Amino acid sequence: MRILIAEDEAKAQRYLAQGLRENGCSVEAVGDGREALALARMHAFDVIVLDVMLPVLDGWSVLRALRDAGVRTPVIFLTARDHVEDRVRGLDLGADDYLVKPFAFAELLARLRNLARRTAPAQDFGPIEIGDLVLDPLRHSVVRAGTPLKLTAKEYTLLLLLARHRGQVLSRTLIAEAVWGICFETQTNVVDVLLRRLRAKLDAPFGAPLLHTVRGVGYRLDSTPDEHA
Ligand code: CA
Repeated sequence: MRILIAEDEAKAQRYLAQGLRENGCSVEAVGDGREALALARMHAFDVIVLDVMLPVLDGWSVLRALRDAGVRTPVIFLTARDHVEDRVRGLDLGADDYLVKPFAFAELLARLRNLARRTAPAQDFGPIEIGDLVLDPLRHSVVRAGTPLKLTAKEYTLLLLLARHRGQVLSRTLIAEAVWGICFETQTNVVDVLLRRLRAKLDAPFGAPLLHTVRGVGYRLDSTPDEHA
């Protein structure tokens, strides 16, 4: 599970990040709201753990901006204040859950597991269209410009992952975890090899590329040209 933590108290941030890493999560941690918003818009996370009281941009503003931008990543609010109106405000803005500080780490883990269970099935509906690419998860079919593509199971899994996060940059680590289900050494080129094979089938015969390499960061699937290259 890939998690973004936005928490400005250094000690709490370290504690959360370390605890989640020890439980097998990959973690990005930031200390202010603007950084959190920028990362959450650019990269795909499974969950965002968002402190309400953050410098520069508070947690409410971050959540509102994310939802306005169409980013549906589940959010757990951390609030130091056990006020009903705070919780209601957070839930109204589209937060998925909240925790009142101080909380037991085990409770955060339980909420994360629960959230992952609740949100996962929602991704499984309907065909995904990106430019002239149509991917139908129910039929397991991939068609580009009217031509059916024959993909291996791994190539298909990778394409589906990228398609579900269209426009967002996915790191090699995230791709490796999602496609193979385990943590890979960051040095490995197994992801690049798979990407090359997918690109040969998905893009090479069709001209305009959908699969974009973002140097030093990862990969992105989109019908619009590179903005990060
Ligand atoms: Ca804070």
